[in-house]
Parts: sequence; C-alpha cells; structure tokens
Amino acid sequence: MSEKDPQTTPQPPSRVVSVEDQPFWDALDAGTFMLARCTCGASYARSQACLRCGANAQALTWGPASGRGTVRTFIVFDKPYHPYFKERLPYVVAVVALEEGPEITTNVIDTDVANVKIGMPVRIIIRKRGEHAIHQASARV
Ligand SMILES: [Zn+2]
Repeated sequence: MSEKDPQTTPQPPSRVVSVEDQPFWDALDAGTFMLARCTCGASYARSQACLRCGANAQALTWGPASGRGTVRTFIVFDKPYHPYFKERLPYVVAVVALEEGPEITTNVIDTDVANVKIGMPVRIIIRKRGEHAIHQASARV
C-alpha cells in the first residue's frame, strides 16, 4: 500500500462554521475574501456585534476586502498537531492585521518560515484545500 493511497493519506481538517460566518466561507469558496462592515465604518473578519457603535451582528453587511495586511504576530509550527500537516512542516500560523482594521489568523506562505517577520506586508490569497477554500497570507505582495 502506497503512502499516497487515498485511503491512508490524511485529509485536511474539516471546517467548523457558525451560522453568522457562513457568508464569509461561502464567499471564500466562490473566490472572494470578505469582511463584515458596520454602517459606522468598522470592519470585522467575523460577524459580531460592532465594538465601536454597538450595532448587532445582523446589522453588518459583507463586502469584498483588499486582502492587504501586515503580520502582527506569528508562531512556527514544527510538530504536526493534525496528521494532514505531517508532511507540510514547518509552517507559520500568524495573526495578520488587515488594512481595514480587523485581524485574522492564517498561514504565511510563499517564503521560508525563517523569513517571516512581525510587520512584514502580506496579501490574502484563496486556495483550495480538500473540498473547501482556505485563506492564506502570501509574502508575495
Ligand atoms: Zn458600528
């Protein structure tokens, strides 16, 4: 039995989505990175009550985001915490500060993990992983 046998090759972790965030993930699957926006101007990476004006989550509307941001902080994973990532080590998990204001947790890719620095510019890209799309932060801005 080959290591690449689909029966034994680890599949990516499944997605767990709250009802409020379903528009974000549906848009991502369709190729668009979106943020939830409030009428007061605040933006959020997830649907939530507005922290600036107090509007409830249902008052926010989803719209396309620039995808531009900078690395706020990060960690290099060198142990596989899920079998899918065993052959993908090491990788970076970062908090990216988007230019619209919110922060999002994602991977930094397209550079060696040793090159990742706090404050470096990144660009959110969308890739297919398993049956769904995921967002990652590319170092190629
Ligand atoms: Zn608001």
